[in-house]
This record gives sequence, C-alpha cells and structure tokens, in this order.
Amino acid sequence: MNTYARLPIAFDHGKGVWLWDKDGNRYLDALSGIAVNGLGHDHPDLTRAISEQAKRLIHTSNLYRVTEQEMLSERLAELSGMQEVFFCNSGAEANEAAIKLARLYGHRKGITSPTIIVTEKSFHGRTIATLSATGNRKVQAGFEPLVAGFIRVPYGNADVIQPTAEHLSSIVGILVEPIQGEGGINVPHPDYLPALRALCDTHGWLLILDEIQSGIARTGNWFAYQHSGVRPDVMTLAKGLGSGVPIGACLASGVAAGVFGPGNHGSTFGGNPLACVAALTTLNVIERDGLITHAKQLGEFLLTALSTQLRDQKGVTTIRGHGLMIGIELDRPCTRLVMDALEQGLLINVTSDNVIRLLPPLVMKHEEAEELIKRLIPLIKRFLAEG
Ligand SMILES: *Cc1c(COP(=O)(O)O)cnc(C)c1O
Repeated sequence: MNTYARLPIAFDHGKGVWLWDKDGNRYLDALSGIAVNGLGHDHPDLTRAISEQAKRLIHTSNLYRVTEQEMLSERLAELSGMQEVFFCNSGAEANEAAIKLARLYGHRKGITSPTIIVTEKSFHGRTIATLSATGNRKVQAGFEPLVAGFIRVPYGNADVIQPTAEHLSSIVGILVEPIQGEGGINVPHPDYLPALRALCDTHGWLLILDEIQSGIARTGNWFAYQHSGVRPDVMTLAKGLGSGVPIGACLASGVAAGVFGPGNHGSTFGGNPLACVAALTTLNVIERDGLITHAKQLGEFLLTALSTQLRDQKGVTTIRGHGLMIGIELDRPCTRLVMDALEQGLLINVTSDNVIRLLPPLVMKHEEAEELIKRLIPLIKRFLAEG
C-alpha cells in the first residue's frame, strides 16, 4: 500500500556507518534506520549471533519457556532497575502494553474509566490506541473515532498538569517521552521528569516513559531517564533494542509490577529466541565496547561542532540534543534537505517539517563524525542562502 513517501534509492549492503546502493555509491549513515542500527551495519558479533541462533531455533511461541527471553529480561532488569518485562515486536505494541497495563492498574483501584495524561507533539505509534495518545493531528486525521481515555497537556511543563488534573479522579498515569523524537528532538528542562515523578507519587499515578527512541544508549546513558535521577513505573523500548531484528519491550516495576497475569496480554512472536539473541548481543556489545560513554562524548563533539559552525547562520533557530539524538531547528520548512543530503552521500532526516534530525549509529568513529559535519554544514548553508 502507498503508506510511505519513499526516497528513490535502495541499498545493497552496509558496513559500520556506511551504506552502498545498487550502483556502488557510498552513503554516510547519520540516521541508523531511525535510531535502530546502533551497532551500524554488518556488525560481526551481531551477524554471528543471529546466524548461530537461526540454526538452533528461531521461534517456539510463548506456550513454552524461552531461555533467551529469560536472559534478556534479567539483563534489562539489571540495566534499568525495573522488575518485569513483556516482549512484543515494535514500539507501538510496547506502548499498547503500557496503556493496557495502566488501564488495568486503574480498574483494580476501582477507576472504571481510566485516563492517561499525554503531551502535545508526542509520538507513540500508529495503532489506534497509540495514535490516539500521539500529539500530532496528521497522525490521527481520518482515523476517528479516537480511543478515549487520554488528556493532553503541553510538553515540558509539569505545572500545567495539577490544574488540569484537579477535578479528574480517573487519572492513572502520565505517558511521555523523556526527549521527544518525532516531535523535533525536544529536550525538556532537567527538572521536568523529577516534577512528573513527584506528581505521580502524590496522586498514585504511574509514570510511563516511552524510551523507544531515546533508550539503548542513544543519549549517553542506557535510558534517557537515567540522566534525571528518577525511575519510571513503566518504560517502553523498541527501535535500538534488537539492532533491526524487530523486538519491543514494556517494563514495569513497583506498583506497576504484577498487574498483568496470565491471559491479560500476549503476543505470538514477542520475545522469540532470534529477536532476544539479537537484543542480548546488542546490549553486550554496547557494554563491552564502551558505547555509552562514546555516545555521550561523540554527541558533545557533534553538538559543539554544529553550534560553532552554524552560529552565524540567521536561519538556524536552535541546535539541541542529548548524546547521539540531535536536532537542528531552522526557521523554515526544510524537508528538501533530505534529498540534497542524499545527493551528497549523506543520510539524514527532517522531522516536524523544520528540524534536521541526526541519529547516527553508536559505533560512529570520531573521523566519521568529522566527515558528517564536513558534508552537512555546506548543505545547510547553501539551503539557507537560497532562501
Ligand atoms: C518510533 C517510535 C514509536 C513507534 O514505534 P514503531 O516500532 O514504529 O511502532 C513510539 N514511540 C516513539 C517515541 C518512537 O520514536
């Protein structure tokens, strides 16, 4: 079906941060298939682990114990401090699990019509419930009636929640991205998550963090919330978790743990041996190769280089980000830049119409980051000069 405005290019193979098209042209990947290929392309540890697992078992179903899934649960619990994990196959599904969990949590407390607070400019997925939670009319238009049970507040301001929520005894949780991805790489003030945590503690709400884009070392920590010193009750993961082998996860702890029992939720494919081995290998390589510290340092280098070299450019509104999640906001729509960059052998993205988004692989080397700057800056300058 015609659901994507695709660029006129097909890749043939890749290595590290480089991709080659069918004609042998080489491209520098500064997008990682939208924050998925953290280990870059053709990572030897990953391809070996996947091939070996494929020879043993790909899928058995959740009718049986799955050893690789148990190992991955333990690893994720260890890294996040969360207690329980449900596995699925995508980000939207992980958020579906979180929404169902929050509703069930509410019903158990006698709340018959549970409501979840969500934010403007958020993105949570394309299923009917997650597009209803999403704060973007373009994603929702034509798919009404939307799922009820969400109320929307501006992003980044915890003070607006108390007055909105005061007369609502039906609230069960707050669902937010620690950094908004699709919404334009919006980095909230460091006080934001602690303020949300305090509100949730006061009212007995669940703090539900969508770390689907920001998680798995992307921001220079395993999870973006770890910069804030607070812990969520529920967290969702997907994108970078399996390095391209589809896997999503919904984690719970504290009062959110133990809410689901047998029969409340499920997935045929979710957490199959192949996907779990891809995820376990991803986590092991990130740790072994020090990619968290690397993402932090490389992100700082990129942010500084971009800020220095674009400082005098009138059309550049802000440059912001955390780790390897970077946005350059221009004062005008700039979707055309994606095609300009492609012609220069560079893969970038534009989100929210006017924000250039960079999500390079975690394995990008310093020289490659320099090459990225060298290719990107002239493109932006030329674009702005043309008016
Ligand atoms: C990509 C994304 C999703 C949806 O993930 P899919 O795997 O495309 O369903 C949800 N939330 C955030 C923050 C995302 O970036």
